[in-house]
Amino acid sequence: MQEKKGKALIWLRNDLRIEDQASFYFASNKYNNVIAYYSFDPQFFSKNHWGYNRTESFRAQFLIDTISSLKYQLEKLNITLIIEKRNPIKGLDYWIRKLKIDSLFFQKEWTRDEYETEKNLINVIPSNVSIKTHFDQFLFHPNDVKMEIKQIPEVFTVFRKICEKKINVRSLFPDIVPLKENKLRLKAFSLPSLSDLGLKIKENHSKTAFPFKGGCDEALERLNNYLWKTKKLSFYKKTRNGLLGVDYSSKFSPWLANGSLSPRKIYWEIKRYEKSIQKNQSTYWLIFELIWRDFFKYISMKHRDKIFKLEGILDRNYEWNRSKKLFKTWVEGKTKYPFVNSNMLELKKTGWMSNRGRQNVSSFLAKELKIDWRMGAAYFESMLLDYDVHSNYGNWIYVSGIGNDPRDRKFDIKWQSEKYDPNMKHQNLWLNEN
Ligand SMILES: Cc1cc2nc3c(=O)[nH]c(=O)nc-3n(C[C@H](O)[C@H](O)[C@H](O)COP(=O)(O)OP(=O)(O)OC[C@H]3O[C@@H](n4cnc5c(N)ncnc54)[C@H](O)[C@@H]3O)c2cc1C
Repeated sequence: MQEKKGKALIWLRNDLRIEDQASFYFASNKYNNVIAYYSFDPQFFSKNHWGYNRTESFRAQFLIDTISSLKYQLEKLNITLIIEKRNPIKGLDYWIRKLKIDSLFFQKEWTRDEYETEKNLINVIPSNVSIKTHFDQFLFHPNDVKMEIKQIPEVFTVFRKICEKKINVRSLFPDIVPLKENKLRLKAFSLPSLSDLGLKIKENHSKTAFPFKGGCDEALERLNNYLWKTKKLSFYKKTRNGLLGVDYSSKFSPWLANGSLSPRKIYWEIKRYEKSIQKNQSTYWLIFELIWRDFFKYISMKHRDKIFKLEGILDRNYEWNRSKKLFKTWVEGKTKYPFVNSNMLELKKTGWMSNRGRQNVSSFLAKELKIDWRMGAAYFESMLLDYDVHSNYGNWIYVSGIGNDPRDRKFDIKWQSEKYDPNMKHQNLWLNEN
């Protein structure tokens, strides 16, 4: 067997898991001395252009719980997790030099802020450090999508059919084994609290549709529950437009967003379920939705910063207004539509909103109030438990008529409300609360 010399550092980003994680797999295969690093990067806890915290308390707490669970799991593998809350460029440069690291592993990102960090980091660390990056957030790996990025189709159906026909989802990485003689062991690091991150504590709301915690264990528990224990997966296509309760949809998104759950893991569990329990339209449809998630990643890769621009990827100019007063009615759930209001209150009180709710409130903001869609997207970024840069901005531009919707639809809120909340249960739940 090849001797495993040298020292590796794994910079954790939105790949906060051990199972089926490329950096851990490759680093632990090649090196015996491995250490992991995570920073609560201050830029993601600052205020955005519109005055909202980029990360509000719900997601921040979810992230703290995720890191706490990861730290515990890494201990069992004899790996230290360095936890900081400073600029990761400074932090990584410091630890790479202090620990005389030979190799740096991380998940590759391409969106503006993440890319800037990556680029600046590579410029400051010693040039002899070898850098190993991976795309580890996709269902369909970019190297398997045998297409130049500029050829990625703009229409989801075209993209999906190519993926389904031509690409196989890769198998999971084998589990990593504990590192016996890891010399890169340090004293345990403590976790920041919400107040360390400048945020207020928000208790979990008793009526939340997302009563879960962050962390890989919780993610796997939910996966197990949704598929094997309750077999709700078999009914997903019928229930996915629901608004109430825990099980109308998978609720995988917050774990997927920070990488504590691997999309490949979900895919292969669904395949196993299809073999041993049932294969139907619902089991297929969850995979179909995961392809949407990939689609927006490829779209952001293709169009880069355009997904953040007012004119979107279509360079289309509309008349937008930026009335703070009008925007506040949306945020506070005080518009003329009770259905928009109940969804906005749900988001404010829990950090969660269903997909049906998101489509309605975003369409209302952009297409009816004609408010600069970026204000809505920034508010979602702040509040959502499952904020993901690609899915959030991709969906916002889609709904706002400057993205990938070939039909440029506007939602009829009254009709939507009657169809999806016929007995006004959602509205009663959130509007009649003090
Ligand atoms: C304006 C707007 C903003 C959004 N912002 C985000 C966001 O920041 N983060 C996020 O993860 N999703 C976002 N979505 C997509 C979608 O609403 C959520 O993924 C979904 O509601 C999460 O619930 P679930 O995990 O129970 O989904 P399920 O219905 O169980 O779907 C399974 C998985 O498929 C993926 N998925 C489903 N629908 C979409 C979609 N439309 N786009 C991309 N992926 C999808 C998600 O990863 C989801 O976890 C947004 C949608 C809209 C309309």
